[in-house]
Amino acid sequence: METKQPLKENSTNQPTVKLENSEWSLDNFEIGRPLGKGKFGNVYLAREINTKYIVALKVLFKSQLQKCQMEHQLRREIEIQSHLRHPNVLRMYGYFYDETRIYLILEFAGNGEMYKYLKRQPNGRFSEPQTANYMAQLADALMYCHARKVIHRDIKPENLLLGIRGEIKIADFGWSVHAPSSRRTTMCGTLDYLAPEMVEGRSHDERVDLWTLGILCYEFLVGSPPFEEEKQDLTYRRICKVDLKFPAHLSTGAKDLITKLLKSRAEDRIPLRKLLEHSWILQHLSDEVRSRLPTFQIMQPNKA
Ligand code: ATP
Ligand code: MG
Repeated sequence: METKQPLKENSTNQPTVKLENSEWSLDNFEIGRPLGKGKFGNVYLAREINTKYIVALKVLFKSQLQKCQMEHQLRREIEIQSHLRHPNVLRMYGYFYDETRIYLILEFAGNGEMYKYLKRQPNGRFSEPQTANYMAQLADALMYCHARKVIHRDIKPENLLLGIRGEIKIADFGWSVHAPSSRRTTMCGTLDYLAPEMVEGRSHDERVDLWTLGILCYEFLVGSPPFEEEKQDLTYRRICKVDLKFPAHLSTGAKDLITKLLKSRAEDRIPLRKLLEHSWILQHLSDEVRSRLPTFQIMQPNKA
């Protein structure tokens, strides 16, 4: 008889198996501790019984989704996220449902939420090297998404998780769309991260993600987003004017990159590939992070 192994988190020695099955059910999983509470249900640590593969199981209540008319958005989230394969994009292995609930089988992000991790830092901000390494991972992941015509539209610390090696995992594709978005902007997310074209309700494309990357870079380095104000209309005005102020501790390189991302006109923003070649990024990029970025692997083919 097989003895049950405890459901261990933070285990780096996951079995290297592919979770592929079109007919999942709750019987396939052992459920562990709750990982967190979402707006529409809870997330649990879980283990696929056959393979012993650790996952995060997100349980959503149909009734709540219906009440908020979110079924359409969830369908899109599943459709988009389940097709993306990138080390810095949270994998969705599959989904299943029963009478009352929908279950999403997600990659387990062993180090939890970026938002909480940021808040725990001294002064609530990251160092420049750490931020540069996060930016490189995000740029690489977004290049991958944009090449597949997927715009995330909601990049912010709350939607980023951390893997076991501290690597970024973009999660929450709830607001993502297939580009170009012909429809006029639906207001989504907090105002703080919205690009001018979104705030003004103009049409937009994948370059909204460049803007939000600039906001994120600022928040990582400073501890709060650049246009944060008590009153929303003030934030609104500061976004439209790109009223950017830097604290004294920021380096010239960091300010240069943020300024190049936070351009009012989408066509003026530095493209992702150029971001990866920016001197401030290259100056800080660690060998470890570099070795995991698909873009750098393509740029430096095997020497064999
Ligand atoms: P929504 O995504 O519907 O906007 P939410 O962001 O509030 O809701 P969820 O994404 O459902 O919440 O997740 C709730 C919490 O569970 C997260 O904040 C996080 O702490 C944890 N969590 C979610 N997914 C994972 C995962 N794949 N790995 C580890 N922890 C996770
Ligand atoms: Mg979330």
